[in-house]
Amino acid sequence: MTVQETVKTYKNFIGGKWLSSSTEKVKPSTNPANKDEIVGYVQISSEEDVDQAVEAAKLAKKSWRKLTGAARGNYLYKAANIMESRLDEIAETMTREMGKTFPEAKGETARGIAILRYYAGEGMRKTGDVIPATDSKALMYTDRVPLGVVGLITPWNFPVAIPIWKMAPALIYGNTVVIKPAEDTAVTAVKVIECMEEAGFPAGVVNLVTGRGSVVGNRMIHHPDINGISFTGSNQTGKLVAEGAIARGAKYQLEMGGKNPIIIADDADVDAAVEATISGGLSSTGQKCTATSRVIVQEGIYERFKERLIARTKELTLGDGMKENVYMGPSANEGQLNTVLSYIEKGKAEGATLVLGGNRPKDPELQNGYFVEPTIFENVKSDMAIAQEEIFGPVLALIKVDTIQKALELANDVSFGLSASIFTKNIENAFEFIDEIDAGLVRVNFETAGVELQAPFGGMKDSSSGSREQGEAAKEFFTSIKTVFVKP
Ligand code: ADP
Repeated sequence: MTVQETVKTYKNFIGGKWLSSSTEKVKPSTNPANKDEIVGYVQISSEEDVDQAVEAAKLAKKSWRKLTGAARGNYLYKAANIMESRLDEIAETMTREMGKTFPEAKGETARGIAILRYYAGEGMRKTGDVIPATDSKALMYTDRVPLGVVGLITPWNFPVAIPIWKMAPALIYGNTVVIKPAEDTAVTAVKVIECMEEAGFPAGVVNLVTGRGSVVGNRMIHHPDINGISFTGSNQTGKLVAEGAIARGAKYQLEMGGKNPIIIADDADVDAAVEATISGGLSSTGQKCTATSRVIVQEGIYERFKERLIARTKELTLGDGMKENVYMGPSANEGQLNTVLSYIEKGKAEGATLVLGGNRPKDPELQNGYFVEPTIFENVKSDMAIAQEEIFGPVLALIKVDTIQKALELANDVSFGLSASIFTKNIENAFEFIDEIDAGLVRVNFETAGVELQAPFGGMKDSSSGSREQGEAAKEFFTSIKTVFVKP
């Protein structure tokens, strides 16, 4: 491949050094809003590179775990400050690499910084309990100890927040890390790691290897010296992670798909419900695992809600996320665009009625990117593919129901259970929903997307496996419990 001299090449970070892959091959990371623009070249790494990174992480683990939590926290605080000073640059890289709008990318980078600070503080909080022993002279207590080396495999949809919400807890609880970011957002990931390098983490504590999932990710799953794997991505790959981890007795944690419903009850505030549906379903081009995709609306409010939703969606501007006033950027890559377009075709073929969008935009300025119009279907039946399968695009499926009980039944009628929301003023409806819904994140009068970093994040059914991420809950995955009994 001929490399354009003016575009920077980014390397792996292994044992505290920036290294080219042993394959000596690089790959361009391109802008989905303008596919001719190369954001940077990244390494196409080999299994050997993974082995080298794991070796470095193994060498570093003893001295890292011996530091106090407060000392480890200081590295996270420093990384947060450095990232804050580079916020705009990192956010711009994110927008250019995966297409979300610049304000969204800035918000996500700020979130990454906040997560680093949250877990830096966690280094000063308790790691165990004293439990009364039956022997009056003995002291019995628990302590949380690190797993050792952890492997982190991350997707492209939150290229800063997800790597950080896995790395920060892994590190604060004393693990060393090998991370493999998605190929599409590897430049953004390198910039996050640059902040950590500048913060002075000891060599080998944080290692980054970029490349293909089937090579780099696969080697991580099967590497005998990786003690735990935390993964976010598709259900298909998640299954491979679980199988590989089980086969060698490693711990694993999976965050996968969603097919998140929003229920609009007859008594809902229409304007608020419409705004939440748009923000939950169409921001980030529908590419959030918590994105709203099924809009289950009670018949008394249906027409008013639909009209308002269509009118507001028509006002949204599609375009390059670096431009001002753009609400929705492109799909993150060509494969994703094709997936979205094929689901739109399936929706039509299965008999749903297309009421808005459904095509690639005609605007000449958008022809070089992976853009698709915000799309709304109605007359959607629960068993249609667009109501059952994760699309990961700006496609909303409207389902009309007569009762809240029917709405609840349909809301649960999918294999996923990540996030769910209801808009209602009726407290009985709200509590029935909270009680009945099979979802890890439950919202009343709030959109399905968006999470708080200090609270547990994860889903039920096919959406997640293993313990929750984020907040204090992250401790469960990244540590083991030692129960200690001391008799003088
Ligand atoms: P998405 O459809 O969101 O890209 P993937 O599951 O394909 O979801 O990707 C999520 C992460 O998993 C990425 O970092 C990707 O490179 C990695 N990955 C993909 N295939 C494999 C695999 N066979 N083994 C391990 N990791 C993989």
